[in-house]
This record gives sequence, structure tokens and C-alpha cells, in this order.
Amino acid sequence: MDKPNFYRAKLKAYETLIKQKSFSFPIEPRKIKLDSYNIIVISLQEYSRITGISIEQLTSNGSFNDGYTYFKNNTAYIFYNDDIETEGRKLWTISHEIGHIVLKHTTQCEKNEQEANFFASQVLAPQCVLKQLIKNGAKVTSDYLSSKFKISKEASDNCISTLSKVIDNEHIITEYDDIIVNLFKPYISSDYSLDSYFDELEDRRKNFY
Ligand SMILES: [Zn+2]
Repeated sequence: MDKPNFYRAKLKAYETLIKQKSFSFPIEPRKIKLDSYNIIVISLQEYSRITGISIEQLTSNGSFNDGYTYFKNNTAYIFYNDDIETEGRKLWTISHEIGHIVLKHTTQCEKNEQEANFFASQVLAPQCVLKQLIKNGAKVTSDYLSSKFKISKEASDNCISTLSKVIDNEHIITEYDDIIVNLFKPYISSDYSLDSYFDELEDRRKNFY
């Protein structure tokens, strides 16, 4: 298997966030716009209701995960399963599909799946933002991530475990990190720990005199 290119997936995720005309938090992947395609996000159930095509037919008799993308002309239709139990997992599925589109994946293989998953994590809860939170003394736990960033418990656990692996890895830093941190800052800075805020003031005071 070719190795997944996580760096590229991250770069493209950040680029996608930066290109959005309006930014709001938590990230709502249903509202993401791309240059390359119009995106229509629709649940299978809704599509089935509108077209009269049965869910079994749409999912080739149930052999279907959480979502898939269908291209027609300049439009990418992202179908997701509304029966998925949590909103967090739906948002993840939609972001994952957007990842396949942005990364121009044409085949389904383990490498592409891993890249799309990493793209999803970097759109919903960017590593540079989590690093910034940790640097400022915030308690970045799995529960915090799922309630604040609206990602599933499973995705939160995943974010934490990848984060600890790359936290000191210079290679995973991108040219967009500062811009991304600034986009999220108004929504996350209240979670910075006061202790680290006072440490910072103290540092500044020392540097001042
Ligand atoms: Zn996929």
C-alpha cells in the first residue's frame, strides 16, 4: 500500500477552511463550499423520499457505509445515512466525503480512506488549534473535544491519540497554521487556562523591565 500523505490532507483541509467566505464555529461541513464542485449534501432518506427510489436500491442492497459521493457534471452529491445515531458522526461522514473530493480521490483504497479521515479531523478539529489550546493550558480531553468541536467520541479519542504523536513533529506544521489558529481563536480562547494566562502576563512583565 502507498503511504497516506497526511501532510497534503492537512494542507488541503486548512486551505478549504481559509477559502470559506464566512467562518463559524463549530464547523458545519454541510455549508462548506468548494471551487471545484457545487456540493449538495443530502440524506439518503430524503433523496429516496423525493425520487421514489428505494433505500435498498440507492445503497446497492445495503452494501453502503455511512456516506458516498456521486458526481454529475459540476455537482458532487454527498449522500449520508440519516439513521446514523449521532450528529457528530454525520458531520464526520460529510467531512470525510468532502475530503475525497478535495483530495481528488478516484479509487477506494485504504490509503484514500485514511487520508479522507485525516482531512475530516483537520477540518473539524485542526491539530494546530488543539496544540494552541494545550500550549495555553486548556484541558483538551476527549469529552471536551466532542462537546466543543461537535465530533463523535470515537473521533475525539482518535484526535487525542494522533495529537500526542505529532505534537513535537515539525514536519506537520503548515504555512496555514497561524491563519487557522486565528480563525478559531475567538471561539476557543475562553478555554485557555487562567494559570497560563497569568504566566504569560508574568513573562511579559519580566521582559518589560
Ligand atoms: Zn471514504
